[in-house]
Amino acid sequence: MTYRENVEGLDASILMHPRVWEASGHVENFTDPMIDCKQCKSRYRLDVLGDQINEKKKKKAIEALRENLKDNSEIISKIDSILSGPDENENFESLLTDDEIGRLLLAELNCPQCGNKNTFTSARKFNLMFKTFIGPVEDSGSVVYLRPETAQGIFVNFLNVQSASRQKLPFGIAQIGKAFRNEINTKNFLFRTREFEQMEMQFFVKPADDKKWFDYWKTERLNWYKNLGMSEEKLRYHDHPENKLAHYAKEATDIEYDFPFGWGEMEGIHNRTNFDLSKHEEYSGKSLKFFDEEAKEKYLPFIIETSAGASRSFMAFLIDAYSEEEVKGEQRVVLRFHPKLAPIKAAILPLVNKDGMPEIAREIEKGLRRNIKVFYDDKGAVGRRYRRQDEIGTPFCLTVDTQTLEDKTVTVRERDSMEQVRVSIDELSEHLLKKLSD
Ligand code: ATP
Repeated sequence: MTYRENVEGLDASILMHPRVWEASGHVENFTDPMIDCKQCKSRYRLDVLGDQINEKKKKKAIEALRENLKDNSEIISKIDSILSGPDENENFESLLTDDEIGRLLLAELNCPQCGNKNTFTSARKFNLMFKTFIGPVEDSGSVVYLRPETAQGIFVNFLNVQSASRQKLPFGIAQIGKAFRNEINTKNFLFRTREFEQMEMQFFVKPADDKKWFDYWKTERLNWYKNLGMSEEKLRYHDHPENKLAHYAKEATDIEYDFPFGWGEMEGIHNRTNFDLSKHEEYSGKSLKFFDEEAKEKYLPFIIETSAGASRSFMAFLIDAYSEEEVKGEQRVVLRFHPKLAPIKAAILPLVNKDGMPEIAREIEKGLRRNIKVFYDDKGAVGRRYRRQDEIGTPFCLTVDTQTLEDKTVTVRERDSMEQVRVSIDELSEHLLKKLSD
């Protein structure tokens, strides 16, 4: 966003008027199907139950289902058509979430927690929005919701931002911030939490240009992960088939990462058409039309959305960067973060705590800290200090040693190659800023 002339930033509210969430469809549709095990009381999201059941058990349940339904050719052909889809996990999910087949399939499955068969309740809809109250009275008239996504704050502020920034189509509004979802099962560390960080960008375009911009952002967003060092072979698109599109979407794709527990979405890219703006117009009674000066007409732009999880993609970067290797018979743990992502860019280490080295090192630290996040460490042998920085992904270690006292240069050690070069103290800042912007 910072480097693009046609993208503006926004920090919209977490609590908005409840009508915003009626207009967006969240009050009615933002639900997950939920089931309980009557025996052990475990709770599952119906559409992800399959993730917790192994392939053998899934196959057995489908065989039993077929056997029970063998006289009903219509339903058998429906099952076959669902099972002919390309992705086995998705096929199973589609069977489970089908009203007719799901109920029968559930009866053939064992609870992953207690192992009992045919103990699931039927599926119920569960709204994921957290509720709270405005003011002192906790009645239905004062209910508000913690935002489940940052996007709606962008939509309702679209014309405010556009007129204040004097942007023309196409342009985007980006926002990073907390989102809250009352997830049925949180799991896999940062992958699914109830409070998480999103980074979304809504790009407003002329309706006729929607396909062009959808394709543009699809490529740009995948490149963003690649350019920040994420392994290409662990990234893929998952295009949504037409029958699985969300109610607001004309076209959609996910960018997925191959997590240790399997492929998972990091970011969703959607062509949301003018669905959201027209709904907010309808519910607020206020026009959200953009005046196109060239065409001399007013219309609702289409929106291409890039919606990424900051915490979820951070986890992917963390997993991707983690490596263990053997160096001179010892194990070295390294976080190979792209320097732009490394939380600490350089560590400053006096070789020994005497002969004026700490004083020089402190001076260097003071000078660099204004522009770069640095860390000062004088505890223990220098080799151990290098290892500590490797483990947290610091790309550069600057060591003040005996030669520094003679020629005012320091050793700059690069994390991945462990190569060392000498750089003059006067040129350190420029040297590091150049490396960090490469
Ligand atoms: P999922 O299918 O995993 O529940 P979603 O399709 O509902 O995700 P979106 O509504 O498209 O997710 O949200 C955009 C992004 O926000 C996701 O790609 C993901 O990175 C992140 N995200 C969504 N839910 C969570 C969560 N509970 N915890 C952490 N990140 C999340």
